[in-house]
Order: sequence, then C-alpha cells, then structure tokens
Amino acid sequence: SPFPIKLAGPVQKGFGRGGKDLGCPTANLPDEATEAMTVVAKTGVYYGYAQVIPPAERMGEFEKGELAVLPMVMSLGWNPFYDNKKMTAEIHIMHGFKGDFYGIEMRAIVLGYIRPELNYTSRDALIADIETDKQVALRCLERPGYHTYAEDKHFNL
Ligand code: ADP
Ligand code: MG
Repeated sequence: SPFPIKLAGPVQKGFGRGGKDLGCPTANLPDEATEAMTVVAKTGVYYGYAQVIPPAERMGEFEKGELAVLPMVMSLGWNPFYDNKKMTAEIHIMHGFKGDFYGIEMRAIVLGYIRPELNYTSRDALIADIETDKQVALRCLERPGYHTYAEDKHFNL
C-alpha cells in the first residue's frame, strides 16, 4: 500500500470553482506538495487527517479547535491550468472554520482511497456524493489502527 502519504505546504488560492457554494471549501496544496501524490496518481477522492499550522503572528486568526488534527477528504485531479499535466490536491477539513486560511501551512496524512472522480449531471448529485464521502471518511478513520496517525510527528501536537 502507498499509504500513509504525508503532504505539507502553504494553502494556495484556487480557481474558486464553487467549493464554498457547495458547502465544501477545499484548501489547495502547492505543486511541490502535490507531487508526493504521484506515487498513486489515481484521480478521485481520498481520506485522512489534516492540520493547519499558523505562524506565531497569525495565531490570533484561529480558534483552538481549528488547530487540532482533524479528519479530511481530499480530491486529487488534473489541473486544467497546466494542460492537465499536473495534478491538483484539494483538502476539505471536516470542521467549521470561522475564516479563510490562505497562505497558512497545512499538513496532511493521506490514509486511503474512497472513489474515482465522477462527472456530475446535477449539482444536487454532486452535493449528495460529497456528503457520502465525508461519512465514508469518518467511518474509515474509526479503524483503531488509524488513530496513531492523528498523533504522528508530521503534525504539531
Ligand atoms: P479556492 O478555489 O480558492 O480553493 P474554495 O471555495 O475551495 O476556494 O475555498 C477554499 C478556502 O476556504 C481554503 O483555502 C481555506 O482558506 C478556506 N476554508 C475554510 N474552511 C475550510 C475547510 N473546512 N476546509 C478547507 N478549506 C477551508
Ligand atoms: Mg478549493
């Protein structure tokens, strides 16, 4: 198994292609961090843990619960901006953040694959699938063996 896959980098601005209107904002990892995913290179939805790690001077923008290691779902796709030659990794952290965190360091451990990328004919079908992905991720992370990854030294504990 290629897992766990450890990713880290400052959160990039995306195309704003509707993450927030779908109730599912996705924090984009930079190219260099996404490259670690070429070991799998399979597009689709993954699950694991993520954490935002602000520098001391931006700590005030965050509430305590926002700094925890939290469950996440990640979408890995081809980036149209680079003629579909580069992958893009976008992480939705399963927590209600009070604000944006562009530029802030995000670390993640990817633990498994949920499903391939699908083409949706309706927005409602897409929203329903995202909901299912989050539930699947939470169920998968209940496996006792995974809890140790939430305490991995890749994260700030
Ligand atoms: P973009 O196209 O810039 O990625 P999105 O609509 O996908 O725009 O929103 C992503 C941004 O929303 C993230 O970069 C982050 O700053 C913010 N954000 C707020 N809550 C979350 C969350 N729970 N998971 C991921 N990003 C979040
Ligand atoms: Mg996004």
